[in-house]
Amino acid sequence: MNVIKADIITLQVDAIVNAANSTLLGGGGVDGAIHLAAGPELLQECRALGGCPTGEAKITRGYNLPAKYVIHAVGPIWQGGNARESQLLASCYRRCLEIAMENNVKTIAFPSISTGVYGYPKEEAAEIVIATCRDFMQKTNAALEVTFCCFSDHDLRIYRELLGAAGARETG
Ligand code: ADP
Repeated sequence: MNVIKADIITLQVDAIVNAANSTLLGGGGVDGAIHLAAGPELLQECRALGGCPTGEAKITRGYNLPAKYVIHAVGPIWQGGNARESQLLASCYRRCLEIAMENNVKTIAFPSISTGVYGYPKEEAAEIVIATCRDFMQKTNAALEVTFCCFSDHDLRIYRELLGAAGARETG
């Protein structure tokens, strides 16, 4: 598992993950950036998907993006912590990893789902994300390179600290 600071739309990976909303019809933040970069065909494909429940994910092509696929995941809106937010956030990441494996994805990059407009506290989210991905990778022995794509120095610090070590690279 790697961590970098980047704009996710620039990444040359098999799949990037979108922090979408349940309509899958686009929004602000990373969702807006991905739709803008991918082009209007992405919205067309998303329209046919009929939305997506919170904690779930759906895959599309990447169109004009360098990434071959976009996996659209719907994270929970933070409501204080007692509305199953942690389970729903973990479920999002797990579903993305499962869908990645089903589609022969070898490299995947995640944004920090739910920590923007949806208000999930960043440290708490990162802890859940790392534990969930680590657990998945160990259980499945997946040949999948997972990158956490941070958009700010603050996020980068959080992920680096939690992953341990300055380079923050884990293999296997
Ligand atoms: P949500 O509604 O799930 O909170 P947001 O898009 O508002 O989604 O924010 C999710 C995270 O994505 C935030 O940490 C935000 O800083 C980050 N982000 C926004 N734009 C980009 C981008 N182009 N690349 C990577 N991360 C981004």
